Amino acid sequence: VPVVAVVGRPNVGKSTLVNRIIGRRQAVVEDVPGVTRDRVPYDAQWNGRRFTVVDTGGWEPDAKDRAAAIAAQAEIAVQTADVVVFVVDVTVGATDVDEAAVRMLRRSHKPVILVANKADNQNLELEAVSLWSLGLGEPHTISALHGRGSGDLLDDILSNLPAPPPILEDGPRGPRRVALVGRPNVGKSSLLNRVSKEERAVVDSVAGTTVDPVDSLVEMDGDIWQFVDTAGLRKRVNQASGTEYYASLRTAGAVEAAEVAVVLLDAGEVISEQDQRVLTQVVEAGRALVIAFNKWDLVDADRRFYLDKEIDRELKRIPWAIRVNISAKTGRAVDKLAPAIRRALASWEQRIPTGALNQWLTELTQATPHPVRGGRAPRILFATQAGIAPPRFVLFTTGPLDAGYQRFVERKLREEFGFEGSPIEISVKPRK
Ligand code: GDP
Repeated sequence: VPVVAVVGRPNVGKSTLVNRIIGRRQAVVEDVPGVTRDRVPYDAQWNGRRFTVVDTGGWEPDAKDRAAAIAAQAEIAVQTADVVVFVVDVTVGATDVDEAAVRMLRRSHKPVILVANKADNQNLELEAVSLWSLGLGEPHTISALHGRGSGDLLDDILSNLPAPPPILEDGPRGPRRVALVGRPNVGKSSLLNRVSKEERAVVDSVAGTTVDPVDSLVEMDGDIWQFVDTAGLRKRVNQASGTEYYASLRTAGAVEAAEVAVVLLDAGEVISEQDQRVLTQVVEAGRALVIAFNKWDLVDADRRFYLDKEIDRELKRIPWAIRVNISAKTGRAVDKLAPAIRRALASWEQRIPTGALNQWLTELTQATPHPVRGGRAPRILFATQAGIAPPRFVLFTTGPLDAGYQRFVERKLREEFGFEGSPIEISVKPRK
């Protein structure tokens, strides 16, 4: 069972937090200096995952006697933990003792989750921003006493635990959700009909899932896919009546409900502003993206020449999109769709381990440092992947980065780790 150690100065609210985590109401022991408290383990559970929480006494670096023994116990707890929750009192801010604790935690090389406790109101929540200076990433603002923020914190603790032993059967996971979008007449209904016909009939239900009646389940390449919000396509409504405004609302709804969008473009026509807006909707919603150039049966050598130029010019901002050239009419390359969607989803959910990420980044920034600005060149101190779907990265730096340099980092990140078919977000946190 993985172990989570809770450490921090006396009186920051560690026991209250531990009580929150284990979900038991017991006498809240405040960390009064001198009060005897060694390592106390409790069993806890969250989202079906079991782990042990170790409550430690208040950590004080220069303590004498009994307090020194408590500090030593806390250090042992850190050494034996899989994840450390480091609690700071947001009403006090980061003290010298907190900074000393951070140095001790660094030496341990354990994943550390920074908690800004006693954030009982919005003003205090804002105060927590100053705790970025500890260099432990984003502080989790919580109020252990009132329970605020503890769910998110538990989610984060869980995601930092070592991977659980694999479950033998991959349980009933619902079908992946796909939005089929594009301006009117690009061939959305034709494509949906084609895949429904070619690849066995549409199924009505999949064990363990509920499917919205406006969605279609379609089997492609051995998997069942959920094409969201396709009722309109099937009934062929809105074709004449759909003003662009309503079309774009529908697109937004479908994209929001989906994990990946297949944007249909008419290969026989120029890439229009309306096409661009659909692409923007997908990118801004942070969904995986496959671009299908439909009506490829109409593309001759001449058109091909101009289309290539158009792609270079019009799709320059999304060079990472996966492209397939299909014909809903003849069925050409429609079988390429499912593998393309799978690849985009894999990128969308890709997680780069922090070690590999920082190793790569160190090499990159040594080879090509940020240009000097006002006598200094901002440095990237540390990077971490904050999330997936889409992948989100945070760069901790000594100062703001040039937009150009940030784009360079993103391009190199993609070259190194892939991410075809997925947008990625990079945010920069300059140290204050
Ligand atoms: P939607 O508005 O996006 O659903 O587009 P439709 O599926 O209704 O198609 C619009 C028109 O394009 C129809 O006349 C289709 O027959 C035609 N069409 C769709 N796909 C293709 C294709 O791959 N090749 C050709 N030549 N025509 C197509």
